[in-house]
Amino acid sequence: MRVLVWLRSDLRIDDNRALHAACREARRGVMAAFLLSPGQWRLHDWADVKVDFLLRNLQSLSTSLARLNVPLLVRTADRFSDAPQTLRRLAVEHACDAVYFNREYEVNESRRDVAVQVTLSAVGIATRAFDDQTILPPNAVRTTDDRFYTVFTPFKRAWIERIGRGADIDPLGTPRAQPEPPAASDPIPPALEGFDRVPADPALWPPTESAARKRLDDFIATQIQHYRDKRDIPSLEATSRLSPYLTLGVISPRRCLAAARAANRGLLTDGQPGPDTWMSELIWREFYRHVLVGYPRVSMSRAFRLESESVPWRQDEEHLTAWCQGRTGYPIVDAGMRQLNAQGWMHNRVRMITAMFLSKHLLLDWRLGERYFMQRLIDGDLASNNGGWQWSASTGTDAAPYFRIFNPFAQSARFDPDGEYICTWVPELRAVPRAALHDPRRLAEALSQPTLRLAGDPSPVRKARDRTAPGKPPLKTYPPPIVEHETARARALAAFGRK
Ligand SMILES: Cc1cc2nc3c(=O)[nH]c(=O)nc-3n(C[C@H](O)[C@H](O)[C@H](O)COP(=O)(O)OP(=O)(O)OC[C@H]3O[C@@H](n4cnc5c(N)ncnc54)[C@H](O)[C@@H]3O)c2cc1C
Repeated sequence: MRVLVWLRSDLRIDDNRALHAACREARRGVMAAFLLSPGQWRLHDWADVKVDFLLRNLQSLSTSLARLNVPLLVRTADRFSDAPQTLRRLAVEHACDAVYFNREYEVNESRRDVAVQVTLSAVGIATRAFDDQTILPPNAVRTTDDRFYTVFTPFKRAWIERIGRGADIDPLGTPRAQPEPPAASDPIPPALEGFDRVPADPALWPPTESAARKRLDDFIATQIQHYRDKRDIPSLEATSRLSPYLTLGVISPRRCLAAARAANRGLLTDGQPGPDTWMSELIWREFYRHVLVGYPRVSMSRAFRLESESVPWRQDEEHLTAWCQGRTGYPIVDAGMRQLNAQGWMHNRVRMITAMFLSKHLLLDWRLGERYFMQRLIDGDLASNNGGWQWSASTGTDAAPYFRIFNPFAQSARFDPDGEYICTWVPELRAVPRAALHDPRRLAEALSQPTLRLAGDPSPVRKARDRTAPGKPPLKTYPPPIVEHETARARALAAFGRK
């Protein structure tokens, strides 16, 4: 038997269930295929930086697959609807008897896979699907009345219990090499039409499986024990930054769980606070996929809480643009948006602050923010992004109650007291006294000082000060808040209260 492994969001050779099974079972060789779907990815709002990261990872994956004597074939299937015929041609051309793949759970992806199965079976090619993207399959845990969970804590309890009863969650390692490659690998294009070449900073996001593994090992060795205490401080590198790798499957969640467990005396919970908390985050990832499978409407731009669909969202292009550009006059919000725009990544605490600001303070539809995040994030992932947005907008499962509205100034006072994060991303505030960063009145006062009005680009404070010589026109000023906190809060409460 010759098996074609269709790779999608599982760009690795370590602990890849479909690849592993293929290498174990094939007698006439294993081939791998990847379909480039730029048209579909555009429809799904994939960020330029994510596509670039994907192409670079494909490049290194091709090299690792070659070591296993598995050639990587790359074809374009612009839309998902092109996938069945493209795969059929590929499988027939290379005399493959079966196509193996790891499941993707979003609605369009699932429909595509069914269409592929139907097309292949019509020409006598078998297919086999594996659950690999999560530690437990998204439907493995159910309530006692056989429903999907909608609240995280009982889901987590049931998830841990399910593992305790025995589940196949050990990482599989690298599969054994095949005797010889049945064909040559295809080159990987350096860029795709329709996506700007915005290279993911290779120092921040090295595109290899070994880099992801090293990141995990370093995090476990030096950070995980402090994770609970430091994970909310955006100026620190206290979180793993593994999300882009998990999103594209460059590392497996089982590998992450196994490493964290080993640092926690084998415990999944009730061990040490750092590893316990980090594993909880991995379970949030599982939870949002569970929700996506159980309530497919969330993958179709619908609110989980249908009653929240009647919230009277405002339309305000100017405010939306100010938020996207990091020009809202709220330093922590602006810092987060500018980090997103520059790095394709944002710290989780700041994702919550910026998302809540858009949906509550600005009362703009959370779907606009969800979309903008997807268009910018290197780790853009429908389930987690939608989960995070619906949590922040109080429209989702286990969401923040609508009356809990973060005050961005209080959030930055608590999580960025020295303004280190803010000043990294909003350099024009470097010359402002630290306390003023967390107090709108003092901030307005400080910004009205003539000496501060010109500090306007990412240059060091001194350079900025040099340009504040009296008489010169201002280059750039930091904007006043586009909404006032208490007024905006009252407006949001009224809007949500009458939904
Ligand atoms: C509005 C909003 C949008 C988000 N969009 C995405 C997204 O598109 N893609 C994405 O991967 N995460 C998203 N998250 C979740 C979270 O912010 C990121 O996973 C996290 O910041 C990634 O950093 P890290 O790898 O250092 O995480 P760590 O803190 O080291 O956590 C380890 C891993 O656990 C998972 N994880 C952590 N927190 C969460 C969470 N709250 N929900 C789901 N999974 C989590 C991630 O896979 C992460 O890599 C979003 C959160 C919010 C509030």
